[in-house]
Amino acid sequence: MASLAKDFFIGLSNNDFLNQSAKKFGARFGAERFVAGTVFDAIIPTIRQLNQKQISCTMDHLGEFVTDRSEAEHAKEKIMDMLHQIHEENLDCHVSIKLTQLGLDIEESFCIQNVEQILEVADACDVFVNIDMEKYTHYDSTLKILKLLRKNYPNVGTVIQTYLYDAEKDLSDLEDVRLRIVKGAYKEDSSVAYGSKDEIDKNFLKIAKKRLLGSAFTSIATHDHHIINELKKFIAEHQISTDNFEFQMLYGFRIDMQHQLVKEGYRFCTYIPFGEDWFGYFMRRLAERPQNLNLLVKDAFYTEDNKLKKQPVVIGTVVLTLLFCLGKRKKKG
Ligand SMILES: Cc1cc2nc3c(=O)[nH]c(=O)nc-3n(C[C@H](O)[C@H](O)[C@H](O)COP(=O)(O)OP(=O)(O)OC[C@H]3O[C@@H](n4cnc5c(N)ncnc54)[C@H](O)[C@@H]3O)c2cc1C
Repeated sequence: MASLAKDFFIGLSNNDFLNQSAKKFGARFGAERFVAGTVFDAIIPTIRQLNQKQISCTMDHLGEFVTDRSEAEHAKEKIMDMLHQIHEENLDCHVSIKLTQLGLDIEESFCIQNVEQILEVADACDVFVNIDMEKYTHYDSTLKILKLLRKNYPNVGTVIQTYLYDAEKDLSDLEDVRLRIVKGAYKEDSSVAYGSKDEIDKNFLKIAKKRLLGSAFTSIATHDHHIINELKKFIAEHQISTDNFEFQMLYGFRIDMQHQLVKEGYRFCTYIPFGEDWFGYFMRRLAERPQNLNLLVKDAFYTEDNKLKKQPVVIGTVVLTLLFCLGKRKKKG
């Protein structure tokens, strides 16, 4: 059942028609719980509030799988504007980018040019840039591009997905690179990735521990309290400096735990997605944890004193039925 729900939401996340339609609506149907807004200006107060609570942020201007040059250039401009604003507003904040948003599926050299221009501005603004890791089909090219970029721009890092069999092998090439460790969010074939939670968790712990014993900065990005608790013990046993790592979680997830980690003296960073292209991101979050639907249903259908709201029931039922039908008809190959 969990696997069916996962396949269903991942299918929706890849659906072109739904992604395009969703842009016209703005973040709706509960997505606003996990997507901070559509424009950067409007999110600055949220970043300030988090910074005041000793939480740093990484901003993701949502968008991926771009196939149009002008769209990729537009995304680049938006990211560069954001870098200037982070600098001018003196925010404790860095930026996460996706290569497919910047033209990787159009032409590799075009994508590299776009990222170089971003890194030029990031350098001038003294802001770190992280390249998010996407589907396995882009894995080798992402690592290759990172290596090339780092010759001129040391202030760029990436992500290791511990569901990949290759993760540990590739770690040794990235010893001096700032890395984020995650489990991995995409549906991958068993020829390249572990499928069971046990195997993925085991690999996560192995890789995170290895990194924590090294000298480059590591972001431990998970909402999994079992993993966090085991790593906290490891960090204490090995007297690892809290300057060498941070915990990261997504905006809107386990907020109590985010604050608790800060209270315990750990560095913490919240990953904040924003923008019009929210649908694929939102569907992947539902795929990871279908229980997130419970939260959304509760928010959408019930008032604070637990009374049923009438109008959203009708709208919600229509929307979910539509999503289901369109997801089946327009599923991408
Ligand atoms: C900051 C950040 C950046 C990321 N960047 C990328 C990226 O670049 N590329 C990529 O592929 N993926 C990325 N991801 C997504 C990641 O790969 C996982 O898909 C996602 O984090 C879900 O896995 P998890 O480690 O949080 O734990 P899960 O395996 O989803 O959850 C493990 C357990 O933790 C508990 N739990 C989890 N969430 C909750 C909750 N909300 N409330 C209560 N209990 C909960 C439950 O007990 C659950 O069984 C990122 C994730 C984060 C946090």
